[in-house]
Amino acid sequence: MAELRNCPSCGTLYVRNSVRDVCEKCYKEEEKKYDIVYKFLKKRENRSATKDTVVEQTGVDEELIFKWVRKGRLQLAQFPNLGYPCAKCGTIIREGKLCTNCISSIRNDLEVHEKEEIRKEQIQLRTYHSQ
Ligand SMILES: [Zn+2]
Ligand SMILES: [Zn+2]
Repeated sequence: MAELRNCPSCGTLYVRNSVRDVCEKCYKEEEKKYDIVYKFLKKRENRSATKDTVVEQTGVDEELIFKWVRKGRLQLAQFPNLGYPCAKCGTIIREGKLCTNCISSIRNDLEVHEKEEIRKEQIQLRTYHSQ
């Protein structure tokens, strides 16, 4: 089923598909920028660049860089200083959704919730294994 949507980047109405989360025009723009970033990071001396350096040197928006990191297009295993922001405080992290500080500070509040999540996951796992 085609789904009409406003491009989150430029607002144009476009048909959404699973690969592209922006319109054709923005997708092409993004690919160009991805090339620039990728070429930059591919150089040995740039492997350990931080997000700030990448933004500075390539002029590409940090949001795009975070998106590629989240999607695994920029693999963190190759780039030790890249990451994406913690969902709560914005600290750069490399796995999960929250940084360790946020995790420990909200652990108490979350305990009940986490137990519930674990329970749900176990149910999902069971469902998965029984398929
Ligand atoms: Zn667009
Ligand atoms: Zn945090």
